[in-house]
Parts: sequence; C-alpha cells; structure tokens
Amino acid sequence: MNAPAKVPPPAYDLEAFAASLGDVPVETDAKTLQKKSRDFFWFSPVLKRELQGKVAELIVVPRDEADVVRVASAAARHRVPVTIRGGGTGNYGQCVPVQGGVVLDMGALSAIEWQKGARLRVGAGRKMHLIDAETRKQGYELRMHPSTKRMASIGGFAAGGSGGVGSVTYGGLRELGNITGARVISLEETPRVFELKGDAALKICHGWGTTGIITALEMPLAPAFDWIDVIVAFKDFMTAVRFGHELALTDGVVKKLVTPIDWPIPAYFQGMEQHFPKGSAAVIAMIADHSIEPFRSLAAAHKGEITYEKATDESMGARPLYELTWNHTTLLALNVDRDITYLQSLYPPFGFLEKVAEITSLFPRDEVIHHFEFTRYAGLPTGSGLPLIKYTTDERLNEIMEIYRSHGVFIADPHIWMLEDSAGYKSADADLMGFKREVDPLGICNPGKMRTYVPLR
Ligand SMILES: Cc1cc2nc3c(=O)[nH]c(=O)nc-3n(C[C@H](O)[C@H](O)[C@H](O)COP(=O)(O)OP(=O)(O)OC[C@H]3O[C@@H](n4cnc5c(N)ncnc54)[C@H](O)[C@@H]3O)c2cc1C
Repeated sequence: MNAPAKVPPPAYDLEAFAASLGDVPVETDAKTLQKKSRDFFWFSPVLKRELQGKVAELIVVPRDEADVVRVASAAARHRVPVTIRGGGTGNYGQCVPVQGGVVLDMGALSAIEWQKGARLRVGAGRKMHLIDAETRKQGYELRMHPSTKRMASIGGFAAGGSGGVGSVTYGGLRELGNITGARVISLEETPRVFELKGDAALKICHGWGTTGIITALEMPLAPAFDWIDVIVAFKDFMTAVRFGHELALTDGVVKKLVTPIDWPIPAYFQGMEQHFPKGSAAVIAMIADHSIEPFRSLAAAHKGEITYEKATDESMGARPLYELTWNHTTLLALNVDRDITYLQSLYPPFGFLEKVAEITSLFPRDEVIHHFEFTRYAGLPTGSGLPLIKYTTDERLNEIMEIYRSHGVFIADPHIWMLEDSAGYKSADADLMGFKREVDPLGICNPGKMRTYVPLR
C-alpha cells in the first residue's frame, strides 16, 4: 500500500520558471504555501502520516486561460511539477504537491460562459454553490454536488470527486451523460487545447489532476425544485435502511438525498443533536416540496418519526442538512473524536438489504458505525457505504476492508494516494494512461501520484 512512484522526481529550475511567467500572479508567503499545499487527507491516519509536511515552492494564480497556457508552457520548459488546486477539499491528498514545484490555484477561472436551458459551460474554478446561485434563476441546478458544495470547485469535483447529493437520482459523476464536455490544456512547451465531448469528456473524471489542466466544463443541469430538508428517526438501523431503500426505489417521490445513519452518529452533529432522538437511527433526506406529502406517508408506513422538516437553506450562517451527510458525516465525527476514520464501499444492488444485514452483523457496533448514501449504479438504486471506523491500527483497518471484500462488497480504499490503488472509482486504465501521454508527456502534472506512468524526459 502506498509504495512511492518508481520514476524519480524531475530536476527543475524554479527560478527560470518564475522569471518566464511575466505578470501572472504568484504567492510566496510561507502560510499561504502551507495552506494551499493541503487538502483533507488527514481524515486518514495513514495519509496523515505519509503526506504531512509536503509543501509547494510557489503558488501560481492564473487570471484566465491565457495565463494557464503560459504557466503550462513554462512548466514544460523548466520541468517544474504542477499540482492543480480547486477548493482543496479532496480526501486523498490529491492536492498535495508530493514532489514540490508549484500549486496552480484555479479559483479565478470562474466565469459562466453560457447557459442554454439545461446546458451549462462554466470555468473550472467556479465554486458549485455559485453555479447553482446563477442557474437557479433560469430554473435549473447542477444534477449533483458533493456535500462540500459551498467550498469546492466544479473542476475539482470532476477531477477528484465521485458523486454526492443528487446521485440518488442521477448516479455517479462518471456515468455517461453527467459531464458533457471538458476543455483541457496540455503541459507541453507549446500547450495544446483539447475539447472533449460525449464519452471522451469522462476521461478527466477522477484523474486526480494528473491529466492536464481543465479550464472549462460543460455540465447537464436538472430542474431546480424547492427542496425540503427532513430528518426521520427510526427504532433501529435496519428499519432506517429499509425505508431509505424503498424511498430510493420510489421514482414518484422526487428526492436529492437519502442518508441512513446509525446511532451514535447523530451524537457527533454538534448543534443539531436535539433533532435526533437519543439512541435512534435516522434517515436524512432532501425532498422536492411537491413530493413531501407522499414522503410523509412512506415514512409513516415504516413507523418513522419526522423530527425535522425545513426548506433547504444555503445562505451564509445557515446549515443545509446535506452538510451532515456524505463525507461531512466523517468530518463532524472527527471534530469530536480524533480516533475516527472511514471507509468507502459500494454494495451490490441485487440483494442489497440482505447484504446490509450480513455486513452489520460482522463488526462490533462501536468499531464500525454504519452510514449509507443511496445512489444509483448503472441505473439501479443501491447504497454507497461510508462507515465510520474507530481506528486502532493499520493492520485492523486493512482487515476490516478485507472482510467487506470477502463478503462481496466493493471497497474504494480512501487511505491511499496512488491513483492506481484507487481501484474502482477510476483506476489507471489504458484510456487514462493514453490520455495522460497526450496531455502530460513529461509527467509534470501532479507527479508522484501515478506509480506506473513512465514520462518522456
Ligand atoms: C467534508 C467533506 C465532504 C466531502 N463530500 C464529498 C461528496 O459528497 N462527494 C464527493 O465526490 N466528494 C466529496 N468530498 C471530496 C471533495 O470535497 C470533492 O470531491 C470536491 O468536489 C473536490 O473539489 P475541490 O475543488 O475542493 O477539489 P480539489 O481538492 O482542489 O482537487 C481535487 C483533485 O482535482 C484536481 N483538480 C482541481 N481542479 C482541477 C482542474 N481545474 N483541472 C485539473 N485538475 C483539477 C486536483 O489536482 C486534485 O487532484 C468531500 C470532502 C470533504 C472534506
């Protein structure tokens, strides 16, 4: 696990690189260098140990695509490693410059180029909540977003994320149709521009910033409903999961989020504990306002008690319930207990409920605390499990993952920082390798994150 890349880091000339940037803005103060060289890798005790203290030498902040091209060319000429950064909320150290060099902060490339009904073209650096704020004016919003919507960029989501709020309806981000176009700049002395459409647009998905610089994305949008945040309490976890599963299967009830959690997870939700009866499991959901009555009927049929029902509020100071879900669940638990970590799993859609009952019986309740996010996989509703793990040793962590695998549950190990080891959400397949050769022949784009890529130097 986490063996370093075989190819040695490039020898680079940072001074010559910086001199050739002209007036492209840069940042050099030590605090900014440290801050912008990190992401949320510290969720993993393994990555925390291995990635701590790796810092870039320079932050470059392009104002537009012309600046990006200039940086890409200078980096290629002087062999400088470039680690691309959006909001810096990745979980596997994808934004950590493990071989030094520069961090490329994409925040300023944030213009909405156009919106035509449910089609959008947007700068890769735009934060996702600022996308919805604009597109909702025309009655549309992103099909899905991570629970970090208010911090993360659309480019970072495409390159580093997997799905999130909305995936219960639209599936994972890398499923065909969920990204419709991408503009990518290669890292070469004379950078080339790639306009990827259709299935080719998915090449940039989950490549961890190793496959060129995305400057713009075309995203399909969904109807923007008035969403209602709901909490439903249940006597036990399996009842909560059964309810969540039926809700996920009920296409007539329009929803964006279905999150079953076991006790004591709600006890970690500081400031929200009063909405969760002590000792109960719960389902957190986002329901379209026109579906709330059928939703209440379904909750009553499963003997659920609705303890919270309020319009989703993303304004400053407010707390949308999706910020209790997906990997925010882990964050909130870590705020209370530093010995917590997590896993990422995907359950088979067929026999899902039986598999949940089987897996939950395998571990003590205070070691593996269950949390699911309902999603669609190839069109079929199933659960993506993000259980909290009371960490003891690396060996036990690996053993837990092996137990899941041996019972037929897919694990995407979140304690690795080599793309090849991320097997599943996107491993380094031939398509990815071929595209990398096109856009990063020198191997200077987030170097050190791919063990098997051999650069042309
Ligand atoms: C509390 C918490 C909750 C989360 N919840 C979810 C969730 O629900 N779903 C989910 O999928 N993920 C989740 N994540 C992971 C992460 O927040 C998301 O994937 C997010 O979309 C990343 O966006 P970002 O702008 O922060 O990307 P960054 O962290 O800045 O970058 C992520 C990767 O993309 C690359 N990258 C960034 N911009 C570009 C670009 N323009 N061109 C090329 N490469 C680029 C980077 O080099 C890096 O490898 C969560 C993380 C945390 C800490």
